[in-house]
Amino acid sequence: MQDAPSDNDVYKTLLESTRAIPWKIDWKTMTFAYIGPQIEQLLGWSQSSWVGVNDWAERMHPEDRDAVVAFCVSQSQAGTDHEADYRALTADGDYVWIRDVVHVQRDANGEVLALIGFMFDISERKRTEQQLLQLQKQLEEFSFKDGLTGIANRRMFDSVLQTEWASAQRSGQPLSLVLLDIDYFKQYNDHYGHIQGDECLRSVGQVLQQAVSRPRDFVGRFGGEEFVLILPETSGESAILVAEHCRALLRERCIPHEKSAIASLLTISLGVGTIQPRHGERALDFIEQVDRLLYKAKQNGRNRLEAACWGNAEQLAEQV
Ligand code: GH3
Ligand code: MG
Ligand code: MG
Repeated sequence: MQDAPSDNDVYKTLLESTRAIPWKIDWKTMTFAYIGPQIEQLLGWSQSSWVGVNDWAERMHPEDRDAVVAFCVSQSQAGTDHEADYRALTADGDYVWIRDVVHVQRDANGEVLALIGFMFDISERKRTEQQLLQLQKQLEEFSFKDGLTGIANRRMFDSVLQTEWASAQRSGQPLSLVLLDIDYFKQYNDHYGHIQGDECLRSVGQVLQQAVSRPRDFVGRFGGEEFVLILPETSGESAILVAEHCRALLRERCIPHEKSAIASLLTISLGVGTIQPRHGERALDFIEQVDRLLYKAKQNGRNRLEAACWGNAEQLAEQV
């Protein structure tokens, strides 16, 4: 008849059959008193190769090592139970994400005797976390970027304009807005097809991005074949220069437009407004005023810009 297993045997069997890997480090000698045999399956290093704490530290990703070792040592010295995540090196040269959960064992005087812990394989969780982060980043990009042209979308424009409007109200600096619309784009689509129409919108987006230079200048797709520039701290005169630069850069691209009633190349019409917004005035009304300028440019023959200044932006123009 077999002897009944001792309590120790039961615990050992239990510990060695879980997915968490148990270990114990003697504090005085800084050596492993024990490590579960499962470690070999997880990392490939044999159970007997885990001798001192150096074996643990050296088998850690160099980017994690210093911070994790320093954290675990300080927590252990303070007698505080703790957890640390790091990448552990496998015998094949790969890395596995580990969460080490550590209990500090102390004697009756509070002196640290040993560290007892469990290592958990958290690679799967980390992978999921990273995928989620990636997705979140993409989502953020999608929600502020126009999918077709890659420049900022209407939503981003609304939020940037609000910020710049408030900033201009505080600083008293002029704020310029350029609204532009492609001339006879309906005919362009009808003649060249929607795919090339889309390509054309991408080109215009690129041209506009080339035309601005200051870090706070903003370029966005307002909707359809209309685009918008926000030019903070920019006088009417300077805004006109930027708008003319947009037209010149587009001309250089020489995008054919056979069905345009006014030219053989693709052209744009622009409204250029400058304001020194006062408190109580609304950005929405400013957009509407600039839209009227754009309409006027269309009325006056297209392929041109119409500009206006409001508030005392005119006087300020001299100083900027
Ligand atoms: P105008 O000179 O007065 O601006 O004439 P227009 O033909 O450009 O003006 P209209 O607003 O009538 O036409 C805009 C056209 O833009 C119609 C629409 O099919 C096209 N459009 C809007 N969004 C897109 C898009 O995402 N891709 C393509 N290919 N075309 C678009
Ligand atoms: Mg339009
Ligand atoms: Mg148009």
